[in-house]
Amino acid sequence: MQIEFYGATSGVTGSCHIIHNAGKTILLDCGLIQGRREEMEKNRRPFPFSPDEIDAVVLSHGHIDHSGRIPLLVKQGYTGPIYAQNATADLLDILLQDSAYLQEKDAAYMSKRRKRNGKSMIEPLYTVKDAQEALGNVVGLRYREQKEILNGVQIRFQDAGHILGSCSVEIWLNEGGKQRKIVFSGDLGQYDTPILNDPAVITEADHVIMESTYGDHLHRDRQSTIEEIGQIISDAGHKKGNLLIPAFSIGRSQEILYYLGKYYEEWGLDRWMVFLDSPMAIRASKVYWDYPHLYDEEATKLRKKIKEMPHLRNLRFTSSPEESMAINRIKSGAIIISASGMMTGGRILHHLKQNISHNGSHIMIVGYQANGTLGRKLVDGHSSVRIFGDEYRVKASIHTVGGLSAHADADDLMRWVGSFSNRPQVHVVHGEDASKQAFRHKLESELGLSAHVPVPGEILDL
Ligand SMILES: [Zn+2]
Repeated sequence: MQIEFYGATSGVTGSCHIIHNAGKTILLDCGLIQGRREEMEKNRRPFPFSPDEIDAVVLSHGHIDHSGRIPLLVKQGYTGPIYAQNATADLLDILLQDSAYLQEKDAAYMSKRRKRNGKSMIEPLYTVKDAQEALGNVVGLRYREQKEILNGVQIRFQDAGHILGSCSVEIWLNEGGKQRKIVFSGDLGQYDTPILNDPAVITEADHVIMESTYGDHLHRDRQSTIEEIGQIISDAGHKKGNLLIPAFSIGRSQEILYYLGKYYEEWGLDRWMVFLDSPMAIRASKVYWDYPHLYDEEATKLRKKIKEMPHLRNLRFTSSPEESMAINRIKSGAIIISASGMMTGGRILHHLKQNISHNGSHIMIVGYQANGTLGRKLVDGHSSVRIFGDEYRVKASIHTVGGLSAHADADDLMRWVGSFSNRPQVHVVHGEDASKQAFRHKLESELGLSAHVPVPGEILDL
């Protein structure tokens, strides 16, 4: 019985851990490392295990930094089941194919450049076909459905309140009569996130593998965050320029639309045109709409009242590239919600090109921006940035709205881990270094728990 800690032991992307029990091996998440190109290159390194030695894969949720190397795993020989919550399974269908498409596009672009310099071509990390093959192995489970996935291994998904279908995973191990229970937090949400339920209370575990993205940070309270968004929209003024909202396609985009719908009158949104300019976000919104039984109370009430979600009179879904490009002609009065959330790719880059050097434009940053991303540069106040190889002066107003994070803050994390009644050992992962250490210290000093920060490749005997 062992846990091996791998991805997301350094940084917050590429989540991946291994559990050994009675000669069987379970992979917990299989995420893509995201960030700068040099970081992304690490995805090409061989897995620290042989894909054919894995007996089962368990995914906490759909985000690519938790699921994005699944197609690669299957391409390299993994043939077993991939367990995921039902809504996650639907989101994976969108996310993995999109990720594969981006891999193909990126490889083609790089190959073209390399060819000019007489260098060899680059193969995509995986293709859309690889992703489709992997998706064929996904097995959907309901929340709270306990399932024996291997001899001596049972799992149960609990709502993590982070995105639709997100889970904390309870894992019961039995090896020769010895029993251990591991709980993997997955990514935890905030307690008052719209649409989603609060993270579920789990009371028993011997070991908790726990995220710490915001282990040293408190979000602004929700109400002042909502007021801040309203203020930004009103300051932006629909006549002065456009308002760009870079947002993760899954979760954040739906949350923003939910708020725009809820405060439609109050924020004077009838004066604006609202675009959801991301094919993936449009498809994800439809999946959100398909799972009303996973909503919290408020969203359930709203769902009963309206026939279509999101409900905004002047919302346009721009799926095709032509519709997206047509937005470029609008110089003011457009609220453009587009991906990617950290501005590392996607249609948002085209909108940034059009708007970033314009005084009257506004960019509202509503999500986490990892080190090295364009988004982080804007948050850090760089006066000029590079987009598609060209330098642009930043004249648009940049607003960082902190409180909307899909991630629990330090208090939320403490509240969640505080529900365990039997004093588990906590293994702090999925955070920048300072955050992990600060959270470890908090666990020890405030809850008196034994906590440790594993290094990549560390093996823990249970
Ligand atoms: Zn996540």
